[in-house]
Amino acid sequence: MPDSYDIEVKLLAVTPDSERLIETAGRLCWDTQDKTGSTPDRIEKWLKIGHESMVEHACATFYIRASRVLTHELVRHRLASYSQRSQRYVKESEPRYVEPPEIRDDAAAHQRFQEAMLSCWQAYDDLLDGGVKAEIARYVLPNACETQIICTWNFREIRHIIKLRTSKRALPEFRAVADEIRQIVKEIAPQVFADL
Ligand SMILES: Cc1cc2nc3c(=O)[nH]c(=O)nc-3n(C[C@H](O)[C@H](O)[C@H](O)COP(=O)(O)OP(=O)(O)OC[C@H]3O[C@@H](n4cnc5c(N)ncnc54)[C@H](O)[C@@H]3O)c2cc1C
Repeated sequence: MPDSYDIEVKLLAVTPDSERLIETAGRLCWDTQDKTGSTPDRIEKWLKIGHESMVEHACATFYIRASRVLTHELVRHRLASYSQRSQRYVKESEPRYVEPPEIRDDAAAHQRFQEAMLSCWQAYDDLLDGGVKAEIARYVLPNACETQIICTWNFREIRHIIKLRTSKRALPEFRAVADEIRQIVKEIAPQVFADL
């Protein structure tokens, strides 16, 4: 099950009073500022007809701990700002990795996976001990290596990411992350994310 991935998603910051700001922007377009707050699903109605640009005025920043497989796909979303833990300047001294539940729950696959992780980190440590720089030694580290990233997206991009990445076609680990993001944003801006 995707939700049993050992990942972490935390909201670090969000535009204050975001839905009011979005409604202010939308009402400016239609010159109906005097009606602000009078229609509880005003933003939902705009979104339904494709009038989406006003939700770009609000954004949210998340901390995500997941695998490098996940972040490789995550950073393809370009309307964003990212800061990721460096493997050039930070040594991955501890063998920290994400094991997919599909592997973890199968005894033989789990054992093979653990052996592979051990072997990667053994080679990494040997290279470092031999004087190879961390930025070069990291070439032997696996895709499963755990990483941390801070991401800032506007609400329109978050809607896009949720739509694409909660789909059954998405990578299971990404679905787990996107599900957590969806849960958080539905609380902070229920109108903007009501349909997702
Ligand atoms: C199920 C799935 C399978 C995938 N498989 C592969 C794969 O095999 N190989 C691979 O390389 N990628 C793959 N991807 C990644 C995919 O192609 C996109 O790179 C990724 O989902 C980022 O989404 P995006 O391009 O829609 O938008 P974002 O970067 O999130 O941008 C949001 C929107 O802004 C607009 N936009 C942004 N930049 C431009 C631009 N330069 N020009 C015009 N419009 C722009 C588009 O409307 C875009 O949808 C896959 C994604 C999914 C969900």
